[in-house]
Amino acid sequence: MITSKRSILLNAQANGYAVPAFNIHNLETLKAVLETAADLRSPVIIAATPSTVRYIGEHYLIGMMEATQKQFDIPVCFHLDHHERLENIKELIDLGIHSVMIDASHYEFEENIKIVSEIVEYAEKSGVAVEAELGRLSGIEDDMVVDEKDKMYTDPYQAKEFVVRTGVDSLAVAIGTAHGLYKGKPNVDINRLAAIQKEVEVPLVLHGGSGLSDDLVQETIRLGICKVNIATELKIAFAQGLRAYLKENPEVNDPRYYFKDAIANMKRVVSDKIKMCGSMNRG
Ligand SMILES: [Zn+2]
Repeated sequence: MITSKRSILLNAQANGYAVPAFNIHNLETLKAVLETAADLRSPVIIAATPSTVRYIGEHYLIGMMEATQKQFDIPVCFHLDHHERLENIKELIDLGIHSVMIDASHYEFEENIKIVSEIVEYAEKSGVAVEAELGRLSGIEDDMVVDEKDKMYTDPYQAKEFVVRTGVDSLAVAIGTAHGLYKGKPNVDINRLAAIQKEVEVPLVLHGGSGLSDDLVQETIRLGICKVNIATELKIAFAQGLRAYLKENPEVNDPRYYFKDAIANMKRVVSDKIKMCGSMNRG
């Protein structure tokens, strides 16, 4: 069942849980997420970065989305994660994608508003939900690399103005989380999140969810986070499973076998994150 991201997130906001957004890369990782979410009756967001869309191919991605609609009856929505090229976003909206993140967070405030507003206006016609980011997370996600010195926290008052002027459906906040792996202990500014929640009505989004403790993420959920992005931890689980399997079974050359442990490993992480987000039995 495909549900709009807007309604998935508003339901989470109204009931005090978050929906996990998992970055997928191929059919195996998509199925690992969907089968686990279906077992746990959790709504789920399937996220694809620009390089994932290039890797899978946009028509295959839309095909996967349509197949999901037929095979699973939990609320699922396909989402573009950190997309920047306006023409690509519009093309994928025309092809039927459910939800997009337009990331113009590296531009200054007015320019960010202008770029995001253009996508909101375009997306509205198709009922597509739009997420944008204010502030800037450090770390690495696919092609996107932001140095620690270039990170910028979200200002609560600017966030309010940003949401009102752009009309976005959800807002990604920069409160000290980072993409990729944390080098030291993550330093998350919980007070800033509380201040943002006071000012902003739309659901808030936490990027850089890999490597944060369950307690910390749950605290952010109590302060308005309705979507938690998980990418790196899934990649690690999948790669570790694959590596170990091939090491133990060097004679196996059939992908239907050698992906087995990789998928099982990834499913364990997906299941843990769904429980952490409190989205179990909400779908
Ligand atoms: Zn992100």
